[in-house]
Amino acid sequence: MIRFSGICKAFGSLVVLDDLDLDIAPAEKVALIGPSGSGKSTLLRVLMTLERPDKGSIEIDGAPLWHMPKNGGLVPADGRHLREMRKNVGMVFQQFNLFPHMSVLRNVTEAPVHVLGIDKDEADARARDLLDMVGLRDKVNHYPAQLSGGQQQRVAIARALAMRPRVMLFDEVTSALDPETVGEVLSVIRDLAHEHNLTMLMVTHQMGFAREFADRVCFFYQGRILEQGPPDRLFNDPQNERTQAFLRAVL
Ligand code: ADP
Ligand code: MG
Repeated sequence: MIRFSGICKAFGSLVVLDDLDLDIAPAEKVALIGPSGSGKSTLLRVLMTLERPDKGSIEIDGAPLWHMPKNGGLVPADGRHLREMRKNVGMVFQQFNLFPHMSVLRNVTEAPVHVLGIDKDEADARARDLLDMVGLRDKVNHYPAQLSGGQQQRVAIARALAMRPRVMLFDEVTSALDPETVGEVLSVIRDLAHEHNLTMLMVTHQMGFAREFADRVCFFYQGRILEQGPPDRLFNDPQNERTQAFLRAVL
């Protein structure tokens, strides 16, 4: 469903993605692990079109995100195409980035109404369903500041789902949370992985959750995927010595 081919990205002289290839099947759940600075977030941001790669191609269902003219460099296929492609992908970040001046309900309905042009009543009903699903039915009229970190992150997940993406990206979504609220957010993600036919990519430092959630785990190191495989294989029998050292340090 998603194909990254030969993706290169540098910030100045720092190479962050180094000729990276990755194919993701429809509904596949992929965990991205690896040391800090190895390019995991940048790969998700490139798919979200928040960063533009220097080289390479990204396709969603065979349609490229970017055109590559012969004289080098990448240009968006065109603004309209890019907006259409972006609708396929939802992302949740470590920082929740909710709109502080909007109620929980409006945080979830804002983009469907203003970006997708969905009727307000329909958007409201759908938002209530999603907030119910993430266990926040009774918080629809609260404001973000009145919620715990875990609750805010669950609103952020509902907000991303309200755009009906086919791919959900999670970037260390529990790293900023108090330990006692991590479980409630992981439990929402676990339900999503079971109930929906969503394709999911998740950057996480929680190896226990990666093992349980993922069909495949990819180990990033210096802008490349050094090793990948089913969680049991990768965690129990890592082949690459960098993977072994990383897992020794975090497990
Ligand atoms: P990871 O998510 O694996 O920790 P990142 O993809 O966030 O790694 O970052 C890889 C490297 O790129 C890091 O060294 C980071 O500091 C650097 N980096 C990321 N974004 C930028 C940016 N906009 N400008 C300069 N350097 C960046
Ligand atoms: Mg990161």
